[in-house]
This record gives sequence, structure tokens and C-alpha cells, in this order.
Amino acid sequence: MSRIVNIRKSLPSVVYRAGAWHLMHYLTGRAGPMAATFQLTNRCNLRCVMCNIPNNPRQAVLDLGDFKKIIGELSRIGCCYASLSGGEVLTINNFFEYLREAKRHIPSVNTVTNGVLLDEAAAREFWSAGVDSVSLSLDGMERSHEFTRGLAGSFKKTVGAIENLKRYAPGIKIVVNTVISPWNIDELYELTDFVERLGVLHKFQPLNEHPVFEGQKKAYSVNRDIDIDKVRNFISHLLRKKTVANSAYFLRAIPDYFAGENRRGLFGERCLLPYFFCEFREDGLMYPCLGGKGWGHGYPVERGVENIFFSPEYREDIRRLEGCRFCQKSFSVCYIEPRVNFPVTSFLKYRVLRRFL
Ligand code: SF4
Ligand code: SF4
Repeated sequence: MSRIVNIRKSLPSVVYRAGAWHLMHYLTGRAGPMAATFQLTNRCNLRCVMCNIPNNPRQAVLDLGDFKKIIGELSRIGCCYASLSGGEVLTINNFFEYLREAKRHIPSVNTVTNGVLLDEAAAREFWSAGVDSVSLSLDGMERSHEFTRGLAGSFKKTVGAIENLKRYAPGIKIVVNTVISPWNIDELYELTDFVERLGVLHKFQPLNEHPVFEGQKKAYSVNRDIDIDKVRNFISHLLRKKTVANSAYFLRAIPDYFAGENRRGLFGERCLLPYFFCEFREDGLMYPCLGGKGWGHGYPVERGVENIFFSPEYREDIRRLEGCRFCQKSFSVCYIEPRVNFPVTSFLKYRVLRRFL
């Protein structure tokens, strides 16, 4: 079965819900979130040099009962995409119960994993749960990847995970995520060719800052000094590749981000993301956008997703975040790509018209 089959299955439902969102948003101002991301746990089996998530002193997993309620409510108010990530989701013993529940209610579901624990059995579970896409991380060839991930043998394990998915979960879209950093920039050409030969998609994120958590003892910082000319050359290379899943708009903004220059266009416009997006953390808090709102300032999910989303305080947050410019500083693919692609006015401006300008 080809990869296209899975995408086609959820496409009509996604298009229908996206259309309904535009009608509700522009006619009544009461459209629910179209997309939701879940940090199901902050526990992780790795300690990557650029990531602060597993250093959070409060380690937890989002309760399955809470997750089921959230997913049911999200579906009722029109959500069509959910991404389940961590930490590392495969450290959660009953993770596939979460995944099956998500797929029961939401048309398009993605999982993010480092791939180290993704063996044949896990690949078969992904297949039977009907997940639409799985994102795995490779941050270089063996040398840079294992420096980044801090685990000898992790490169082979993640490549093995991709092979397991291809063999035992055919039809699932596979995406390799790569962080562009000073220590892997020279290996990225080889990695791009390698991923192309694996026959899967490739997505890039420039190295960015993670939050420092309350009660965290160990200092967290990463050197982001990088040769900007090397970045520009590499981006030109990526723009010619058909396997790269990022938008050209996002890719072209990466050198300016590393150089500390703020692009205009999307980055100087009102941010509409929290009108169609929300996030949930392992501690049971809901956010219009973690980056803009700040970690630790979410809404307890016991209040109910619909009640929270349409509450005066949350609407006020959304309005305030229209003026947020945090994306310029943190440059996260998880926030910027949805803003490039949605709503339709943004898609036309940054995906369609850009081709002709
Ligand atoms: S695998 Fe992901 S969550 Fe875990 S330390 Fe690395 S980047 Fe962070
Ligand atoms: S500008 Fe970026 S960080 Fe701020 S609210 Fe919008 S998407 Fe979130």
C-alpha cells in the first residue's frame, strides 16, 4: 500500500473541517482550534545537547483519562490535526492507547519520536493504530547525530526505526526532523542525500532556545554561533530538493534568524495562530501557544477544553498574542509553518504568490 493511501483517507475530513473553521471564524468569530499539539510527557531516554525538556525537575505524563476527555472535546469543536510528542512518547508504557484514542476522534494524527525504542513491535502498533505520520530525528550522520543525542549507537537505532516503519507500517508518512546547528552544518549535505535515499521526507529546524524551568538547578545554554555563509549555501541546496517538507518561506528566513536580523512579512504581522491552534502539556495545562504565553501559565484542563477556549480570559489572551513577536526570537517550525499555511489568506500570500514574486 502506498503512502498516498493514508493521506487520502483523512484529506476530505481535513478539508471539510478547515472550510468550516473559515466560515465560523469570519462569520461568527467562534471557530474552535483546528490543530492541537500534546507534550504527553517530559520524560526522555535521551539528553540531547540542545534540549532542556528532560531537565524539568517536575517529571510527569499526561493522565490517559484527561487525554481522552481532551481529544473528545477537541473533535466536537472541529479539530482535525493532533500531534503527540514529548519528551519521548515511547517511554510511556501505554502510549498506543493514547494514539488509538487520538485516531478514533481526529482525522489526521502525527507522532514525534527520537526512534531509539521504535522496534518491529512498535512499528506494527503504529500501523494498527492508523497514525498518519511519524516524525523521527536525525541530526547528522553518525558523528554529529550521536554527539547531539548523547548516545552511542543511536544513529543506527533511529535509521533502524525508519526501516521498521517502512516495512511493518507501510502507508504511514515518515518525516526526518533535523536541527541545523554549528556542530552539524558540515555534515548536513551528506545527511540530506542519505535521507533522500531512504525515500522519506525531511524537515529542518534551526537551533533555538528552550525555556529554563522553575526549580532547575543545572544551567542550560547552547552556543549558536554559526557561519552564516555556510547556512545560506545549505539553504540554497535545500530549496532545490523535492524531499524537503519545509515551506520555501520558512527556509529562506533561517539565515536571517541566525544572523539576528528580523524578517518582515509574516514575522511583523498580527499572529493568528492561537485562533486555530492550542497546546497541552504533561501537567494537564492548556495553552493558546506555549511560546507566546510562557510555560507554567496555562489553563487547567479540568475546566473543559471548550469552556477554556471560549472563556473571556482565553479570548483576551488570544487577542493579546496577536501582537506577540516571539517567533522572530525563538524560530520554531511548530509555530511558523502553521502560520505560513493557515488561514487561507496566509497560504495564498506565503505559499502561492511567493512563487511568482
Ligand atoms: S529526544 Fe527530544 S525530548 Fe528527548 S532530549 Fe532529545 S530533543 Fe529533547
Ligand atoms: S508569535 Fe509565535 S510564539 Fe507568539 S503567539 Fe504567535 S506563534 Fe506563538
